[in-house]
Amino acid sequence: MSEIKSMLPNSIKQAREMIANGELTVSGLVNEYLKNIKDKNGDINAYLEIFEDVIDQAKELDGKIGEMENKPLFGIPFSIKDNILISGKICSAGSKMLENYKAVYNATVIEKLKDAGAVIIGRVNMDEFAMGASTENSAFGVTKNPHDLSRVSGGSSGGSAASVAADMCLASLGSDTGGSIRQPAAFCGAVGVSPTYGSVSRYGLIAMASSFDQIGPIAKSVEDAEIIFNVIKGADKMDSTSVLGEGKGKKENTLPEKLKIGILKYNKTGVSDEINKTVEAAAEKLKNLGHEITDIEIPNIDYSVPCYYVLVPAEVSSNLARFDGVRYGLYAEGSNLTDDYMKTRGKGFGAEVKRRIMLGTYVLSAGYYDNYYLKAQKAREIIKQDFKKAFESVDAIISPATANTAFKIGEKSDNPLAMYLEDLFTAPSKVAGLPAISVPFGAGEGGLPIGVQFTAPWFREDILFKIGKELEK
Ligand code: GLN
Repeated sequence: MSEIKSMLPNSIKQAREMIANGELTVSGLVNEYLKNIKDKNGDINAYLEIFEDVIDQAKELDGKIGEMENKPLFGIPFSIKDNILISGKICSAGSKMLENYKAVYNATVIEKLKDAGAVIIGRVNMDEFAMGASTENSAFGVTKNPHDLSRVSGGSSGGSAASVAADMCLASLGSDTGGSIRQPAAFCGAVGVSPTYGSVSRYGLIAMASSFDQIGPIAKSVEDAEIIFNVIKGADKMDSTSVLGEGKGKKENTLPEKLKIGILKYNKTGVSDEINKTVEAAAEKLKNLGHEITDIEIPNIDYSVPCYYVLVPAEVSSNLARFDGVRYGLYAEGSNLTDDYMKTRGKGFGAEVKRRIMLGTYVLSAGYYDNYYLKAQKAREIIKQDFKKAFESVDAIISPATANTAFKIGEKSDNPLAMYLEDLFTAPSKVAGLPAISVPFGAGEGGLPIGVQFTAPWFREDILFKIGKELEK
């Protein structure tokens, strides 16, 4: 891999300046990224496809440079996770089931990116239907970590995180159900934001677990993530769960200069020492910047992962029932209709997807519904209340984003439980529907990136961006 990084901007602001100054055209900028992709993607496997119209998109923008002022993402090259629909393009969700499926409309977030002037370079790899934490569940090969090619990029938005970290785009959109934006961002040294549930439209996102899924940015800095979030957020008539969030759940609409930040009380065994130390160092830095640091407990937090792995498979089993060989994607002919379904799903779905459909069907079945699904719903409410109470005394919570740095390819792929535990720190906020950010801070053994996570009250992304920017400074 040759080093051409220096030619590339480090932020949206810098890219805009370069374009505005005439230092670089949008086409010129896009060409730099395309060169980098050519150089690196063979090793990393982040992109599944580079769109053939990317240069046309750039040229069109070069002809409209006068509109730059009003378009916050003018000329900014993006990669898009392969579960977000782009009209006329294949959207595979990392699955054989949808290998040749072409989207027939744009996701709302894509409309918004385009309106803001973004260039969409291509679609990037992910765990199949967003189920996983390493991209090893993709039907199209693993995405490697740009910092160490023997390691995973994290998942499920591994392609998004790796493409940003390896300068194969300036920013990306991923999706987070239980950690899929923040964990790969942490593993690759990028910033990842999982917005408040309902703040970003899910219209055009291939559903995994609809009461958890949110689209969010993966970017090179907190400021970039904030710019992108402000473009994609907002109520959408095509998604009845989307809400404006103005004033909702906010103690007040002001953002105080000095905040009260709670360090999450958690069991430190099983979390690598370098990560425990990094979180302490981050808290210390924020204290020195004048914020008040205190301890905070979420009493029932340990039930988050078990609760998640009951509710998510339940929703998966329902959402994925649409892949029946009739309406979307792959069709494998059997001897009758039931056999058609079995052959289609048998061939189209990978092992993890099948596992979740079976788990989900089980927890929803008549005899077990009360014991599992209903109980998990109750646990979800209790965890939500725990957070609500915590946010009466703190403005944000600091914790690790992950228990470990990027692990070796193959290290956990035969152990679903170990893989599920990757969500230890990222699942709780999703169970509660809260916004959370992972910000790179320091590095572990071998120079591997570490992410520190902040969680804020519902619709208080502004708090996350403020703390994140101060930490990153
Ligand atoms: N690792 C988690 C899972 O497999 C999270 C995935 C996600 O956020 N899409 O469910």
